[in-house]
Formats: sequence, structure tokens, C-alpha cells
Amino acid sequence: MPGIFDTPVSRRNFLATSAALTGSLLLPKAGAFADDKSAEPARIALLSDTHIPATVENNGYRGFVPADNLQEVVKQVLESPAHAAILNGDAARLEGFRDDYVTLKKLLQPLAEKLPIHIGLGNHDDRGNFFKEFSQQPDSKELVQGKHVSLFSLGGTRFVVLDSLLYVNKVAGLLGKSQRDWLEKFLGDDDQSPVVFFVHHTLGDNDGDLLDVDRLFKLLAPHKKVKAIFVGHAHIYQFDKREHIHLINLPAIGYNFSDAQPIGWMSGAFTPQGAELTLHTIGGNKDKDGEVTKLDWA
Ligand SMILES: [Zn+2]
Repeated sequence: MPGIFDTPVSRRNFLATSAALTGSLLLPKAGAFADDKSAEPARIALLSDTHIPATVENNGYRGFVPADNLQEVVKQVLESPAHAAILNGDAARLEGFRDDYVTLKKLLQPLAEKLPIHIGLGNHDDRGNFFKEFSQQPDSKELVQGKHVSLFSLGGTRFVVLDSLLYVNKVAGLLGKSQRDWLEKFLGDDDQSPVVFFVHHTLGDNDGDLLDVDRLFKLLAPHKKVKAIFVGHAHIYQFDKREHIHLINLPAIGYNFSDAQPIGWMSGAFTPQGAELTLHTIGGNKDKDGEVTKLDWA
């Protein structure tokens, strides 16, 4: 499973700290929770659009300093009961420089010691540079050639992080045929446990959205097991629905584009029946801080 940043303390004891930074997968499988209705929900820290520059002192935007914001979010996630974290793209400031990822890794290190972090790619990431810092597991199989797709199961829910990075530092995104073909196969299997997707790009019909959004929904709509899609990109906090699928826009961590929007993250508690999502604001519009939204997987 490529691009997972995870340096559990138990394993760190046996490794030099620097050597432990290559990341690996140590995540309980669904079986640890599966089929037990009283089981603990899968608690996932939902992060997006960190926009971390190589040099943390500069590159503020609209008065926000993305590195400071991420540091605060890391602190909050560490105090939360999260089992895993997902960062839904635009991890790097603008152009996905290798040094952006060096800095990102330093900022995420305290969290990676506690839980696995699945990092998706956005239009301000560079796939090649990303993998220079967040190396692939030697034994991992690339699920979709040339794309960074990762998935895991927890508490009876399957979490799939897709890759919509088309061009670095240009707005539009695309899953592409090979990823859509993989998706079709993935959804065609017998496993009926709920699936939630993470894709960086927004799902509208503007030129800067996910360009193959209609082809994606054509694939997803027939499958009742597909419950939700989380996006980032717009730096807004928003809920919507298309067909039977819940759509959640995660707020940005780095900065907002408008004063009306919060800056922060969401925590999610997922069960096979639904999800409970809580907004945690650290800046911008804090009016909805602590807001809880319950989604039923009807
Ligand atoms: Zn962004």
C-alpha cells in the first residue's frame, strides 16, 4: 500500500527514527471489528488541503500560516481517539516540491507515530516528488499503474483514497480510464460492506472540477454499498447528495478563500449503519465549531 505514513512507537523502538520514516502499513483489518454491532466505530481524522510550503516562515496566504495550522490540527488529532487519518490532497503548497514534502513529513511525524496517515494527491501535489519522501512499501502492489490509490478496512467500513491529480498546479482533475476500470472491478466483487471514497477534486461541472465526474457517478450509482464521497479542493465546509451518495466537502487546513468559511478538520465515527461527523475549527469562521452531522446509510 503506497504512500502511507505510519511510524508506530512500538516499532520505532527497534529502528532509528530516520529509518522509520519510510512508512508502512500496520492497520487492523475489518475483522478486528467486523460483524459486531456493538463494536467501536472506525474513528478517522479527516484532513484536507494542508498546503505546506518547504519553508514554513513564508508563504502565508490571506494572513494564514499553513504550517502553524497543521501543527494545531496535529495536536488536536493526537488528543482525539482517531484510529487513522486521511489527508485528502493538496498536501503541498502549490507545486509539490520535494522540500514541501520534507516539511510536511516533519509536521506529521508526531501523528504518524500514533496512527497511519493516508495521503491522497491534489492538483497542488507532484506524484513523483511525493513518492521521494513517502516511499512505497517494497512489497506493496500498485493498485492502479501511475496513480496513487490506497484503501483500508476498519470497523466494517472500507475507505478508498483515489487520485485525481491530472496536472501539477493547474486546477482541473481527472481519475482517468485506468482508475475507473479498477473502480469498476473493485465495486463488482461480492463484498457488500459500506465503501466511502476520498477524492481531492470537487464534483461539479466547472472547468476546475473533476472532469470525469459523470463517468464516475455512472460507475458508482448502481452500487448501494457506496455511501459517501469526501472531497477537498474548494476550501469549503459543505454537505450535499447525488443519487443515494452523500457528498462532503472537507474544510481546508491551510487557509480559506473566503471569510465565511472555517479552517480546520473533521472527525468521523463510521459504523456499517452510518457516520457521525464533527467539525473542528481552528481559524476562519468558527460559528459552526463542534457541529455534528449524522449521515444514515439508507
Ligand atoms: Zn487546496
